[in-house]
Amino acid sequence: MQVNVIPVTPFEQNCSLLICPETKKAAIVDPGGDVDKILSQVKQHGVEVEKIFLTHGHMDHVGGTEALAAVLKVSIEGPHIADKFWLDQLPMQGQMFGFPEVPPFEPQRWLEHGDTITFGNQELAVLHTPGHTPGHVVFNHAETKQVIVGDVLFSGSIGRTDFPQGCFNTLMTAIKSQLWTLPEETVFFPGHGPTSTIGHEKRTNPHVR
Ligand SMILES: [Zn+2]
Ligand SMILES: [Zn+2]
Repeated sequence: MQVNVIPVTPFEQNCSLLICPETKKAAIVDPGGDVDKILSQVKQHGVEVEKIFLTHGHMDHVGGTEALAAVLKVSIEGPHIADKFWLDQLPMQGQMFGFPEVPPFEPQRWLEHGDTITFGNQELAVLHTPGHTPGHVVFNHAETKQVIVGDVLFSGSIGRTDFPQGCFNTLMTAIKSQLWTLPEETVFFPGHGPTSTIGHEKRTNPHVR
């Protein structure tokens, strides 16, 4: 599986275009906005998008979802249902983050810990990692040792926990029980900033000791 990062929105959120090299099918994770930019990447790679996956309900990660789903005629999977309140509050989030207003929506499928998501010939495991938001999930592709982690973990930092229903201790538990147990060489793709590996963060991230 190839991961192509497309920074979107004024928050430089890392939308990911996941590509199955065998079938040229694709999936898009966290299309926060800049739908035209995402579509031009899809065209450039000559792939057919099958699904949209969401890690959590924050505007910078989901703002372009419905518009993109309508154009591509694909279904939306994720996040965990505990983030429903964030999706319900999208108009308010638009004001809070200074984004264009987006109506509330629901995915076709809420995800749970232990679920599998698929596109092309690729399978990713869903891990529930609450703390930044209660319904945050990450997507692990064990075969190529790549994991899409949204706003749980960053290179040298961790997700904010000062939002409604955020919790620092819960986030720490999620990082240690779900991410630190992955192979050290696993490359993670955070919602913002550069990629890193699980092993490097385990040794050097000052926020998780
Ligand atoms: Zn977030
Ligand atoms: Zn974010």
